[in-house]
Amino acid sequence: MNLGAYITRSSTFQPDREALICGERRLTYRELEGATNRLASALIGRGLTPGQAVATYAGNCAQAVETEMALSKSGLVRVPISPRLSVDEVAHILDDARVRVLFVDTERLDTARAAQWRATTDCLLITYDGGDVLTYEELLGEGDEAAVAVEVGEDDPAVLNFTSGSTGRLKAAVQTQGNRLANMRKRMMSSESAPAAGERYLAAGPITHAPGMPLLASLANGSTVVVLPRWDTELFLRTVERERITSTFLVPTMLNMLLAHPATATADLSSLRALHVGGAPVAPQRLRDAVATFGPIVAQQYGQVETTSGITLLTRDDVLAGTTTDPDLLLSCGRPVYDTEVRIVDETGAAVPAGTVGEVIARGPDCVREYWHEPELSSQTFKDGWVHTGDLGHLRADGYLFIVDRKKDMIISGGYNVYCSEVEAVLYTHPALAEVCVVGVPDEHWGEAVKAVVVRRPGADVGEDEIVAFCAERLARVKKPRSVEFVDALPVNRNGKIDRRAVRARHWAGAERR
Ligand code: AMP
Repeated sequence: MNLGAYITRSSTFQPDREALICGERRLTYRELEGATNRLASALIGRGLTPGQAVATYAGNCAQAVETEMALSKSGLVRVPISPRLSVDEVAHILDDARVRVLFVDTERLDTARAAQWRATTDCLLITYDGGDVLTYEELLGEGDEAAVAVEVGEDDPAVLNFTSGSTGRLKAAVQTQGNRLANMRKRMMSSESAPAAGERYLAAGPITHAPGMPLLASLANGSTVVVLPRWDTELFLRTVERERITSTFLVPTMLNMLLAHPATATADLSSLRALHVGGAPVAPQRLRDAVATFGPIVAQQYGQVETTSGITLLTRDDVLAGTTTDPDLLLSCGRPVYDTEVRIVDETGAAVPAGTVGEVIARGPDCVREYWHEPELSSQTFKDGWVHTGDLGHLRADGYLFIVDRKKDMIISGGYNVYCSEVEAVLYTHPALAEVCVVGVPDEHWGEAVKAVVVRRPGADVGEDEIVAFCAERLARVKKPRSVEFVDALPVNRNGKIDRRAVRARHWAGAERR
């Protein structure tokens, strides 16, 4: 069994149902099955064998989804390269994963060519949308629609997910075929994340990252998947309206943009039944705003690349309870999902009692077990089947997980630990602020001082003193920002999340790093 086989099943039962929509390209399940079979057989016809790597380096498009399914069917290893990576980074990945074929869109063709030239690995370039190299359509023409028969093992690598994480160094989390199948089963078993009959899922962020797994689960379940070619708040709203979208996943920055946009209030979003937010800390105030705007359909999830997808879920009912009877719940990212264990441990690896902050570790059949070619890093992160997430948090006695910070983001000011997300949660309750990021900056007296870098809402007028006073009323003295900087926009990383490392780096240039 592989993920591609699920699509074959969907196409057998409902060949004429719409499967995949992106921009002008609309495919039924029959067409998706035909395209993925042709692509798989064309790749095999070109001499590729199971276990070899094929990369995609493109913005969101239907062809990238088709490629993923075809690779699954042919036992080839998928290497999704974030569309924002540079020539050097792409060249590094081509060599590290020994990529044989690189699918690219014309927007990135020059970068891909330069990377191909710089890399020592020989790889074939194929464009999704024209250009002067072999095109996707030409390649499809080489294949046929008969299903390819390839055996894959549970432990065979399926995806090399390159991330730079908080260390800034590119490393690939290896997802095995078994990890991906287990993740699919997990989704099917959870009433909250399982695609419902008649679902129309909108993949709004880069499909190379978090929206990728729910997208596959939706296809496996025979739902319709709509892929947003790029993030744009109005395009998102128009797409939900036109395609009658029922569920989607957003990172918090996207939610912030939606909540700040005037068109959100008038858009017809009545088809939406589930709005999942996660991938970065979500301020309680934004969850309250989201429920007020979208209704009782908001859920929050927590996970990381190393866990394949969400490991805890704050359900729609939990979020609702958080807005009424149990406000603390909005600070939590929920309870462990099906087939997943979560523990909190101290520096020695021993479990700590409920309520005590320590490192979050997780275990489950979809959790990654190694980084590609990185034995030392692997042994620090993956121990005895447990993923050490690098996040600090605590568990409430009833099992709810509260993430307080990334281990590396915690600010130590005058010997006290200050968690950025706690200060950010307070700043988000200030009506004049649209987006915020708290970092530690060098300080002669305190070692590190708390600094807030903030974006005002359009037309709002607020100054540093007011923000500091606002926090002083609501936070212990040590946690209150010692300075506030106003910016037009915060830097975001390749997945659309606020890039705290970039914000912090500006202040640490030349200073001794901790
Ligand atoms: P990535 O591996 O790039 O997806 O980043 C995952 C990291 O984002 C996690 O290790 C957490 O630090 C953070 N994160 C993801 N979801 C949440 C959430 N719901 N609440 C708080 N932090 C989160």
